[in-house]
Amino acid sequence: MNNFRTIEKIISPPAPHMVGDGFRVHHFLPLDTDETLQRLSPFFLLDYGSKFEFTPSDHPRGVGVHPHRGFETVTIAFKGKIAHHDSAGNHGIIGEGDIQWMTAGSGVLHKEYHEEEFSKKGGLFQMVQLWINLPAKFKMTAPQYQEITAAKKGIVPIHHGKVEIIAGEYQGVKGPAHTFSPIELYIIKLEPGGLFETELPTDFSASALMIEGSANDQNNNTIPQDHLVIFKDDGNKLKFESTNGSTILLMAGQPLHEPIAAYGPFLMNTEQEIRQAFEDFRHGKFGYLED
Ligand code: MN
Repeated sequence: MNNFRTIEKIISPPAPHMVGDGFRVHHFLPLDTDETLQRLSPFFLLDYGSKFEFTPSDHPRGVGVHPHRGFETVTIAFKGKIAHHDSAGNHGIIGEGDIQWMTAGSGVLHKEYHEEEFSKKGGLFQMVQLWINLPAKFKMTAPQYQEITAAKKGIVPIHHGKVEIIAGEYQGVKGPAHTFSPIELYIIKLEPGGLFETELPTDFSASALMIEGSANDQNNNTIPQDHLVIFKDDGNKLKFESTNGSTILLMAGQPLHEPIAAYGPFLMNTEQEIRQAFEDFRHGKFGYLED
């Protein structure tokens, strides 16, 4: 087989809601029926903060201390600055083009909020948070934190554009992120007339979020700004063309094919493991983090 994937659906941004008081997000994933929890495995959750102007604030907006277990949170800043603290002792501030890659694994407490100086000045804010599921055998791995600054990303020039590789490999250039299952995560920047093509294993899930501008697939279907496109598993290639320029977040990965038990901040394989997570949280086994 040697053909381009076709589009399964293009999803309009759902009405935004606030996570804490700092993250105004469109909750794209999981899709709203049980059978689709698996659809884009290993990607489980996608919250997208489309461009929004925050007024100045002396109190950094955000979300207070909360636990996670069994997966990774990946936060990508497109506009504004985001800070993070966790109970494993990691702390980071990311700005435009930077990524926080936090492996919750066996469990951390963390807090996420607007960086202090950005809060004081206010301004345009745009971000993505992904929850990437961990294979069962790595769910209880030790927590870790990868700070992927813009400069660490792999860069490949393409026809009127470039590909920034966060994870995986494109044309021999690797992304810096360590992952626990095969993942291709790129930011594709196309100028007017730009063209992106890649080969992708047919069994990988594939979706893309249109961060800026719009782009077309090989059949000239347009994916508008702030929309999510889900591709069918019907080909080994993928293509975007842009007439007016675009920024695209491409998310592809090998599905885990394992049961999912999801509840609130925990993402496990069984209900028993979810109960255990709550019990361990209550008994302080996720460590301590000051509010
Ligand atoms: Mn969190």
